[in-house]
Amino acid sequence: MALQLLTIPCLSDNYAYLLHDPASGETAAVDVPEAGPMIKALENKGWTLSHILLTHHHWDHIEGLEKLLAAAPAQVVGAMADAGRLPPLDIAVSEGESFIFGGEECHVIDVSGHTVGHVAYHFPLSKIVLTGDSLMALGCGRVFEGTFPQMWASLCKLAALPEDTIVCSGHEYTQANAKFALTVDPGNLALISRAKTVDAARAKGLPTVPSTLKEELETNPFLRAGNAKIQANLGMSGADPGEVFAEIRRRKDRF
Ligand code: ZN
Ligand code: FE
Repeated sequence: MALQLLTIPCLSDNYAYLLHDPASGETAAVDVPEAGPMIKALENKGWTLSHILLTHHHWDHIEGLEKLLAAAPAQVVGAMADAGRLPPLDIAVSEGESFIFGGEECHVIDVSGHTVGHVAYHFPLSKIVLTGDSLMALGCGRVFEGTFPQMWASLCKLAALPEDTIVCSGHEYTQANAKFALTVDPGNLALISRAKTVDAARAKGLPTVPSTLKEELETNPFLRAGNAKIQANLGMSGADPGEVFAEIRRRKDRF
């Protein structure tokens, strides 16, 4: 049976997630921007927390951890590579490793770029990937600590997952991302239509996450650096997609 997924808005524009396995009763929180909404969601569902998966060290993804642990003890999972900056970990994981949660395997993918030591958690059976601030809906995280080639390599790993994978990212940045995406990929009908859907959702205060990897492959400019029309729009026809990605990221930083 597939894991149940709950999206939890936190702070002003962060998202945390709860994953619940009905068979074993295990429940994982993914990132803890603030404890209150997560404790409330656990209570509403009647779920008992067993794991907390951390994607990266930024405060807006770990700030609520201590308070959540005090209310709901759990095993904390995070990147071995960033153990020095993350809160104390019970399970330290690295690229290519797997661990069992809720009777299914979770694959750890290093997606450094936004930070070094950022990981994504992929559940192949339930077709869910939790990407934090790496791949986002219509965007990707700003490259703060890593390099553009590193972020590009990280996005390529995520892009290679099955298309029907559900992408759970860490922020509600989709509307602004859509505005930028339309400047580099203005003729993309799927993007134009998605931008309208996003505007409608936001007008009602609804989350625009999760998305599917298929949607991202069709509309997210950061995954489409190899696309001929985008390259032509940027005056970079035939360029290496990694360089095109870097140019798109630089433009977004100035947007
Ligand atoms: Zn971050
Ligand atoms: Fe963040």
